[in-house]
Amino acid sequence: MKVTVDIVYDSKGPLMADQVYELAREILPRISLGTVYRNLNRLVAIGLISETNVGSMQCFFAHPYSNTHLECRVCGRLQSVPFDLSLTQIAKDTGLTLDGYELRLKGVCQECADKCT
Ligand SMILES: [Zn+2]
Repeated sequence: MKVTVDIVYDSKGPLMADQVYELAREILPRISLGTVYRNLNRLVAIGLISETNVGSMQCFFAHPYSNTHLECRVCGRLQSVPFDLSLTQIAKDTGLTLDGYELRLKGVCQECADKCT
């Protein structure tokens, strides 16, 4: 799953499942196209990535507003979290030229927290 997320987020534009599969095989040579499809569909379902159709081709791209993720330490699932980080303000405060950010929060998701109580 994480490999699939990284591939989609590292890409400058939307990718077709076949392209994700080719890139995933460079990292995990034994991954199957079926696994890539399942991962992509799961990531779309939980809102980490988006899909769109270009003609008859299904393409996947990074969700524009979900560059912040919570990684649950119980079940390992990733979920997108709305997180208001003002790049303009940070750029002003630090003098850095910023054009994006990636953030992974660590903790426990709602579902796992509910099971513990
Ligand atoms: Zn969890």
